[in-house]
Amino acid sequence: MSEIKSVGIVGAGQMGSGIAQVAAQSGYDVRLYDVSPEGIDKGIAGIKKGLARLVSKESITQADADAALSRIKAGTLAEVAAQDLAIEAATENEEIKKAIFRDLAQHAGPDTILASNTSSISITRLASVTGRPEKFIGLHFMNPVPIMRLVEIIRGIATDAPTYEAAVTFARSLGKTTANSEDFPAFIVNRLLAPMINEAVYTLYEGVGTVEAIDTAMKLGANHPMGPLELGDFIGLDTLLSIMNVLHDGLADSKYRPCPLLVKYVEAGWLGRKVGRGFYDYRGETPVPTR
Ligand code: NAD
Repeated sequence: MSEIKSVGIVGAGQMGSGIAQVAAQSGYDVRLYDVSPEGIDKGIAGIKKGLARLVSKESITQADADAALSRIKAGTLAEVAAQDLAIEAATENEEIKKAIFRDLAQHAGPDTILASNTSSISITRLASVTGRPEKFIGLHFMNPVPIMRLVEIIRGIATDAPTYEAAVTFARSLGKTTANSEDFPAFIVNRLLAPMINEAVYTLYEGVGTVEAIDTAMKLGANHPMGPLELGDFIGLDTLLSIMNVLHDGLADSKYRPCPLLVKYVEAGWLGRKVGRGFYDYRGETPVPTR
């Protein structure tokens, strides 16, 4: 089994920066790459904020935070590919991810494991463009990565046993619990979660309830920590729409049809919390429903 000591991450958004933070806190050297330079700056700023919050809560010391931060460096895609494990956490779009994996595979060392944090896209299909599908695996972290305890592990049809074992060992070394999912559209978590949120958007679209009524109903009526529309904003409505499209295309069942109102929000660029507006407007002191 190959031992993982260093981690490369492609995509410094909500997920990539979260994975970088927990990996660095667990002692791994991290190289972080994003196609957009602002993306890197925003990602590193987010990590600093996350570590500072842990220091203020006395969960870690300032020295721990400084040490973690010193292990994270911005790097090129080739440098990301040169690490023991390269995790792709870019936008949820199959063509973007395939282009990244073609590049990573060109620069990867013979033992480098390539992994995708995709929420829904076939691991076997992504692996097929690398020419090394046996060293490819799905490592699906949850948002926010420093807090959520699960990593879903998805083997493609060709993933070999040493790659699987190294991936599980890595996830556990970050203090996470793993759950294995077969490689079917959206795996386990999002096969269940995304249709529930999509149905909440239909409930809004059909006028059954307001944003506030729907979220209050599910928080107090089903004991969910967040309402489904709030959760959709938290995940990112572009990501949610991509997951619904993967389910709809991959399982060919009309029950996965993305709600037209979800499509409209994404077309408007109202992608949720990460851009300041989705089903709620986050630009003021407190979130205000947008309809
Ligand atoms: P995000 O929009 O916050 O970040 C995506 C980042 O990828 C951006 O910084 C963008 O600049 C970068 N990017 C886009 N194209 C790129 C390229 N060609 N090369 C390098 N970087 C590129 O999105 P996110 O929420 O961090 O999601 C990233 C991945 O994680 C997606 O596959 C998503 O499905 C998955 N995921 C998301 C969640 C969630 O709740 N948001 C949970 C688990 C998994």
